[in-house]
Amino acid sequence: ATNGHSEQNFAFFEIKKGEESLRNQRLSEEIPSALKTLQIGMHLQPVFNLKEQKFVSAEALARWNHPTLGLLSPKVFIPLFEKRKMILELDLSILESVCVLQQSLVESGIEPLPISVNLSQLDFYDSTLFETILTIVDNHFLSHELICFEITESTSMDDPKQLLKTLELLRAQGFILLLDDYGSGYSSLRLLTSSPIDILKIDMEFTQQIGTSSRVETALQNIVTMAKNLGVGMIAEGVENKAQADFFQSIGCNQIQGYLYSKPLPVQAYRLFLQTMK
Ligand code: C2E
Ligand code: MG
Ligand code: MG
Ligand code: MG
Repeated sequence: ATNGHSEQNFAFFEIKKGEESLRNQRLSEEIPSALKTLQIGMHLQPVFNLKEQKFVSAEALARWNHPTLGLLSPKVFIPLFEKRKMILELDLSILESVCVLQQSLVESGIEPLPISVNLSQLDFYDSTLFETILTIVDNHFLSHELICFEITESTSMDDPKQLLKTLELLRAQGFILLLDDYGSGYSSLRLLTSSPIDILKIDMEFTQQIGTSSRVETALQNIVTMAKNLGVGMIAEGVENKAQADFFQSIGCNQIQGYLYSKPLPVQAYRLFLQTMK
């Protein structure tokens, strides 16, 4: 009976998987029209500084507002954009939206916070990435400190020289660089030591183990020490409760991103949030 049960579960899983791959195939075909008809938007998640007791920055997170499936998670569609080689278009459209928002905040007299845009490693294969980014930002007359870039080292690059060169150029222009998902990537230590990273973001996988794994807690303590010795800032990702925030504060990691302080907000709600913040 136990066997029959697990077989049933397995069959169910197979059907689900089949449905999922069919959906992904359809979604993938819809990518060009989704970009053209502005179904791709963003939410903004503020980052809180425990020491200063205020919000200090935000992250732009892509959202696909699908006409029949509703709001889709980037965990579903980012891999599809990457496979179709259209992730650069998506990332640049988010950058454009962020610039439009920042410019409109400045023009309305609302003080903006720096906003970070996620860049896929694949974006760096385009040798004109730096010039393209600079053109977009400067078209909106923005101070470069208002735009930051997050990168993840997920796979090894054939030619990391191009990536490093682009990061150097962006840094020299005053853009803040963040290393995303630190600790969970392919070899994040290499990127951290070879590129001008300003801030590392501790992956939420580790945040979730605070209180249950002393090995994780020891590792986090040492990451904080290393970051301090390197002169690099830190943000803890995925902080959902007070115990996690308290732990990060106790080890000297004061910047917190997570549901405890704010969920990612739609653009209009983010504007209101900025206005009511002080
Ligand atoms: P990420 O860059 O590490 O972004 C943080 C993710 O954690 C976001 O998921 C955010 O909604 C989620 N999060 C924040 N606080 C909490 C919390 O307290 N608890 C939990 N459980 N989750 C929290 P999201 O928006 O689903 O994005 C997933 C990933 O998709 C991002 O991870 C990023 O790698 C990628 N992504 C999102 N937007 C873009 C984009 O515009 N371009 C590229 N290339 N990738 C993107
Ligand atoms: Mg990110
Ligand atoms: Mg992250
Ligand atoms: Mg992450």
